[in-house]
Amino acid sequence: MSIPIYTYDAIVVGAGLAGCAAARELQNAGKKVAVITKLHPLRSHSGAAQGGINAAFSDKDSVELHEFDTVKGSDYLADQDAVEFMCKNAPETIRWAERMGAAFSRTPDGKIAQRPFGGQSSPRACYAKDRTGLTLLQTIYEQAFRVGVKFWDEWYVADLIYKDGKVSGVVAFNIRDMEMAIFNAKSVMFATGGYARAYKINSNAHANTGDGLSIVARHGLPLEDMEFVQFHPSGLSGNGVLISEAARGEGGKLFNSLGERFMEKYAPSAMELASRDVVSRAILNEIREGRGVGPRKDAVFIDVTHLGREKIMERLPELRDLAITFLGLDMIKEPILISATAHYSMGGIPVNIAGNVRKNNSELIEGFYAAGECSCVSVHGANRLGANSVLEALLFGRYVGKTMVSEIDDIKLRVATQEDAKTAVHEIESLLHKNGHETVPALREELQQCMTANAGAFRTKETLEIAIAKVKELRQRYKDIRIKDKSKVFNTELQEAIELGHMIDYSAFIVESAVARNESRGAHYREDFETRNDEEFLKHTMAYMDENGDITLDYMDVVLGKHELKARTY
Ligand SMILES: Cc1cc2nc3c(=O)[nH]c(=O)nc-3n(C[C@H](O)[C@H](O)[C@H](O)COP(=O)(O)OP(=O)(O)OC[C@H]3O[C@@H](n4cnc5c(N)ncnc54)[C@H](O)[C@@H]3O)c2cc1C
Repeated sequence: MSIPIYTYDAIVVGAGLAGCAAARELQNAGKKVAVITKLHPLRSHSGAAQGGINAAFSDKDSVELHEFDTVKGSDYLADQDAVEFMCKNAPETIRWAERMGAAFSRTPDGKIAQRPFGGQSSPRACYAKDRTGLTLLQTIYEQAFRVGVKFWDEWYVADLIYKDGKVSGVVAFNIRDMEMAIFNAKSVMFATGGYARAYKINSNAHANTGDGLSIVARHGLPLEDMEFVQFHPSGLSGNGVLISEAARGEGGKLFNSLGERFMEKYAPSAMELASRDVVSRAILNEIREGRGVGPRKDAVFIDVTHLGREKIMERLPELRDLAITFLGLDMIKEPILISATAHYSMGGIPVNIAGNVRKNNSELIEGFYAAGECSCVSVHGANRLGANSVLEALLFGRYVGKTMVSEIDDIKLRVATQEDAKTAVHEIESLLHKNGHETVPALREELQQCMTANAGAFRTKETLEIAIAKVKELRQRYKDIRIKDKSKVFNTELQEAIELGHMIDYSAFIVESAVARNESRGAHYREDFETRNDEEFLKHTMAYMDENGDITLDYMDVVLGKHELKARTY
């Protein structure tokens, strides 16, 4: 039976902020574009962003300071040309979002309000209460829809069509009934979001299984800086659900079991508003040294009671609801329990500033683009600052859409054939018929436990080698999986099996890249190499996977600039 082939000018995979912004640009410029998304667009993780989006436009702030904070926050691994581009265009991005219809919170005199975030020299995060991501996503989705973008909701992209050094579409299936289709286009953009689901305690949506990264890697293409996974300081104790940095930005204080405001020891001047890696490690260290709180002594307190009911209800209503729902604690009346949670992926599909995906250190791939959290441009280097990633997704999503518009007429369509779907069809059919001994939930649990224990906020050669061996073992056991549900209607067991395959693949990149980086930089903290080593490791990791799942590592230069290397203190 032949598979339908749908032809568009451009395909965007993912309907978060990056995907919707790109698609709108393309369609608005008269290109026929389809967005394929495994979720309804408004369920994309962008909608969960609470705290804000950075732009330097107040009197006390400047674009240069925003650049400096971002480069320092990145522990000097960010590419400074990309950082400059982002910071310079941030104010215009906010104005554009506002023109599109996004309603930001305002100051009493009517200006866009800005709140302080960690690692920032000035209050810089624009926000819509603590629902910033949802406000922006609703707006940009609506605008994309309005100009006529075609959304293929609840379609799962299973493969990239990459032949002769050129990308010409994707293979996808309808989650409702497993109908397969080929989407053929001159250009394809991946905006598939992050991958923190590889960790047991994480702040991410269930869908954040890094599909896009593994799909790309299976074609022998590189992934950049995968060892840099951000742990956010404040996830609700036990489940990792995020309590936005806005809680600290608005004045939240951290306490240990002795009632000490322990950040005094770790970051005496920035205190709770040091950068995320610093605060996360401080919290975990207090817990490790026996000063944790809560029934399992595996948390610390965050206290916002001094802000008072009115301010909490005005600025942090969602966070209060989350703590009541998940912990039964009301932050108006009492401190709540938090600990570090896996949150954000700094690394990803390597791209240049225009969004073209890299084939290696020197070549680009025709017709292939990426933006948002799945990409690595690299504006965050080894550690991203709060409120810089919604900015990245929206800003680069939009600009990469513009790049695609400008390059599309020079690309000749490679007409797809049935042959292009062969690998994906075969993989899915054979997975569906698996009757082995392993189950998806059990393997996923082992992977997540192992990654949290051995490749988390603290790592050593020893723990990473445990993780490498475990990931290899899981890859073997995955072949012996059992799918009980053989139906083709909303087969979530099958989808989760496909996603688990992706999680195993990109986890191999995380741990192999991490074990080779014998230094501590930003979010990558090696207890056996506690300092940054610029001489050997001021470079991006470029990792490649072969058919057996083995990883080889290469490195790429960091683009330096006017912000000189310094020790990073807060
Ligand atoms: C709880 C939380 C709070 C946050 N708060 C902030 C904040 O205040 N400020 C800030 O700057 N950043 C914040 N972040 C980070 C920020 O929200 C994200 O980095 C950003 O929104 C990512 O946008 P995106 O468009 O790249 O991806 P996403 O919004 O994650 O969208 C990914 C899309 O890809 C699609 N997709 C994935 N795989 C497939 C597949 N195989 N087939 C089809 N479709 C697929 C999904 O359906 C989805 O539409 C937060 C993150 C979390 C988890």
